[in-house]
Amino acid sequence: MKEDILKYLTKDEISALECCTLCPRKCKINRINGEKGFCNTDVSLNIALIINHKGEEPILSKNKGICNVFFSHCNCQCVFCQNHKISSNKTAPKSLYNTMDEVIEKIKEVLQTSENILGFVSPTHQLPIMKAIIRALHKQNIYPKIVYNCGGYENVETLQELENTVDIYLPDWKYSIEELSKKYSLAPDYPNVAKKAIKEMYRQKGSSILTDKDNNIESGLIIRHLLLPDELENSKKVLDDIAWELSPNVTLSLMSQYNPPFALPYEKLNRKITQKEYDDLLDFAFSLGFHKIFAQDLTSTDSVVPDFDNNTFIRNE
Ligand code: SF4
Ligand code: SF4
Repeated sequence: MKEDILKYLTKDEISALECCTLCPRKCKINRINGEKGFCNTDVSLNIALIINHKGEEPILSKNKGICNVFFSHCNCQCVFCQNHKISSNKTAPKSLYNTMDEVIEKIKEVLQTSENILGFVSPTHQLPIMKAIIRALHKQNIYPKIVYNCGGYENVETLQELENTVDIYLPDWKYSIEELSKKYSLAPDYPNVAKKAIKEMYRQKGSSILTDKDNNIESGLIIRHLLLPDELENSKKVLDDIAWELSPNVTLSLMSQYNPPFALPYEKLNRKITQKEYDDLLDFAFSLGFHKIFAQDLTSTDSVVPDFDNNTFIRNE
């Protein structure tokens, strides 16, 4: 299995794995030799699911949905993660595909019924694999638009290397309060790291979303923020940072879909958000001058989350 993967990687990608600093954890361990750092991942495909996903922002999903590749494990460990069945680094990675050929065939199959967009979800710790997949597709003259769907906990240098690879950045900007990022995601430096990382994405893409004549997205940056219950102050600080550090002209996706995945050890996280909390956040965003906002209807049943046990999606109710 490892040999099958290594033959798809460049020398630079193999070197990067020999002393891994792909993400801000900078574990500096040799993943080629089987060592594992914070993300508990050596050199394996570790793809939990490849599936058509209609639940992304409408400009991405349009009518047909996009092809999403979900990696197992993550360089953050958010206590409220809705993908916890695959993102937890404590469990063995879910890996549905044994070879790169299987992965490529599955992506080709899903792309046939999707928009021409390929999204990588939680790709940071598996960047060499992501790049290898894209190269393998290009070799077959398949050129989907590439979405980088990440938690926002990224190295600037790593992002700089993606400038000509990623078409659409779709990062979370979760926190601007260190106490929260430490408590909920085991990443005390998240606010500062995410600020620098998303500024780099902004440098690459600017605030305009580019589309072709048929309104298919070509390139851009959409910043997601999930409002947590009782944490409006954090959310307002995040929006303040985006407005001042980037621009109120960027596109926001303000997510209201928070739903505790199970009984959490933090009492305040064990409920959904209220309409008032969400409306307050929207009003605050407008007051800062944001005008390109994907908002969610709290009463909508449209929100779907992956069901990794059955390799499909279920409603987030
Ligand atoms: S990708 Fe994994 S091993 Fe590499 S620095 Fe990040 S957490 Fe550590
Ligand atoms: S960054 Fe996203 S995928 Fe990773 S643990 Fe947090 S919520 Fe889950």
